[in-house]
Amino acid sequence: MIAEILAVGTELLMGQIANTNAQYISKRLNELGIGVYYHSVVGDNPGRLKNSLNLALSRADVIITTGGLGPTQDDLTKETIAEALGRKLVFHEETYQGIKAFFEKINKIMADSNGKQAYLPEGSIIVPNPNGTAPGCIIEKDNKIVVMLPGPPKEMIPMFEQTVCLYFESRTGQTINSRMLKVFGIGESEMELRILDIIEAQSNPTIAPYVGTGEVIIRVTAHEKDKERAEQLMEPVIRQIRERLGSFVYSDNGETMEEVVVGLLKKEGITLSVAESCTGGLVASTLISVPGVSEVFDRGFITYSNEAKIKELGVSEETIARFGAVSRETAEEMVSCLVKKTGTRAGIAVTGIAGPDGGTREKPVGLVCLAVSLDGEIVSHEVRIAGDRDRVRHVACLNALNLLRKKILGL
Ligand code: ATP
Repeated sequence: MIAEILAVGTELLMGQIANTNAQYISKRLNELGIGVYYHSVVGDNPGRLKNSLNLALSRADVIITTGGLGPTQDDLTKETIAEALGRKLVFHEETYQGIKAFFEKINKIMADSNGKQAYLPEGSIIVPNPNGTAPGCIIEKDNKIVVMLPGPPKEMIPMFEQTVCLYFESRTGQTINSRMLKVFGIGESEMELRILDIIEAQSNPTIAPYVGTGEVIIRVTAHEKDKERAEQLMEPVIRQIRERLGSFVYSDNGETMEEVVVGLLKKEGITLSVAESCTGGLVASTLISVPGVSEVFDRGFITYSNEAKIKELGVSEETIARFGAVSRETAEEMVSCLVKKTGTRAGIAVTGIAGPDGGTREKPVGLVCLAVSLDGEIVSHEVRIAGDRDRVRHVACLNALNLLRKKILGL
């Protein structure tokens, strides 16, 4: 099967947003064994959309559109494609009730225009949208498949994963199972070097590395008749990758770093507090995004100024004067004062220069010092993080959590 991704939206043509949907869908279709031959983008214009659709139908078996499914006047994808394929739009009661319930849940009045979203092409398969109002749909016609999905990635991705993937699996008679290995602390090229022969030797399962922010994700995908056999195919490959990458792999089932850390804290019954400077509460907030963290998380301090580090935590003025606010010594003292104050078994302290200003030759922007304390033992680490302020803060947060993970695991 050959696929084309047709992204609809004038914003894309104006350069206001990047076509990340096409990138995501392409990766996933390739993993599903469906080759993507073309990407196209068209504005919110019915005539040009129709032309693009006809061109796509002439050269692909599967066309996946994203965008233009909203309730407003310029959202024309569904109407235009239904007309081009000779399908009427028919009212779908269940979808209407779903949209109504969505508005009730968010305590907002449903506009009449949202009702339009309950009209779907006759004979189409509905793709429910658990995170928004616009459902998607799949139309099959003359051996061609047209899938329409909404534009916002946070709606489109779950719909793709939960419904569209299963649809393609049922068509091919194969289940496609994926496992995600999450890797932190090693660059992409170094990682690839270590596992290149495994990647090259495999066709089922396939192994696809992706670069995330500050981390690498390796998706292992097996095509098999059932889930059990797929797991059997993936297991030895995952074991082999883990052996090569060692403690750089922090999860082999797609968990986030914070989920892994909270899981470990709960398993070991370790309580935690944090003291943050450049991350400004990001470490605490990231941990608190994990449900059930209250069992182990005690509190966080944002001690941004030197004065706060001294007054709130009790760091000595001499340490800051002698080594600087961004130093391993200060980070170590921050964490030791922190756990004394809070009485938690574990503590994390972060201090760094997020930029864009404030760097020097010795202490450039991106320098972050981290310290972790566990049952009175302190470890510290200094990292240099490239990128803008947001990236430095995000990667600093990952480093801090990773340092605690390694300390708990004795790595
Ligand atoms: P809505 O119900 O939100 O109106 P929609 O299906 O009509 O959804 P659009 O109005 O086309 O979608 O786009 C809504 C938003 O989704 C855009 O502002 C943009 O943030 C995001 N988006 C749209 N298309 C893409 C794309 N191809 N890649 C990444 N993001 C996209």
